[in-house]
Amino acid sequence: LVSRKRQKEDTVVSIGEIPVGSGQPILIAGPCSVESYEQTRKTAAMLKASGVTVMRGGAFKPRTSPYDFQGLGVEGLQILKEVAEEFGLKTISEIVDPAHIELATQYIDVIQIGARNMQNFELLKAAGDVRTPILLKRGLAATIDEFLHSAEYIVSRGNDQVMLIERGIRTYEKATRNTLDISAVPILKLESHLPVLVDVTHSTGRKDILAPCAKAALAAGADGVMVEVHPDPATALSDAAQQLNFAEFERFLKEIQFPLKPG
Ligand code: PEP
Ligand code: MN
Repeated sequence: LVSRKRQKEDTVVSIGEIPVGSGQPILIAGPCSVESYEQTRKTAAMLKASGVTVMRGGAFKPRTSPYDFQGLGVEGLQILKEVAEEFGLKTISEIVDPAHIELATQYIDVIQIGARNMQNFELLKAAGDVRTPILLKRGLAATIDEFLHSAEYIVSRGNDQVMLIERGIRTYEKATRNTLDISAVPILKLESHLPVLVDVTHSTGRKDILAPCAKAALAAGADGVMVEVHPDPATALSDAAQQLNFAEFERFLKEIQFPLKPG
């Protein structure tokens, strides 16, 4: 169902009134984690003023160590909803438990399936049973074929509102946290009709190359870019090293020439 052979026209995913995959690239920005009402509200106010319309923020955090901050859970989703309503933003947050998918639809506009859960098939099935848009991340060591099969799990249950996002894969290279597979963008666009985005923060894990990687993604045909921004990254409870502060985010927007133009 997700194959270009099956459907020639691009699928356009609607995040409320915001179309993704229609030729106008989108920018998704926000903190790694929802940490507090104030931190989320500050970020939302800045995003609104910058013209960004979709805010991310993790409430359920899949952390490598069980001793790291695990997220605020449902309270985090509540904060996102409250703040998004105040500023008229759309929201996206990761869900890790199939039992939370239905609940999440009441709070957020897009459900993210994280890299570590790309082949959590029960989670994919649950995501296929709702009608909320899904942002599916490529697994840490997933081939493009496996990635598309995971999307197929969701679409085959009736939810055709699926966006794919390349977030870097594991290689021997240590200069970046993961290796941004930029070639995945045109390949996914050729193989599938679903929108394709690129997460420049988690793929690179370093702030100093976010803008060139975002530009490369857009040049390669990406329908959008995701980036992390935090009011005070040094105190962030997750991904402190690679979130942009507001001044850096402003420079990032300038460098990528936001508002983005259709490719
Ligand atoms: C995230 O976007 O918050 C995240 C945890 O990313 P990934 O699943 O790509 O590691
Ligand atoms: Mn993060």
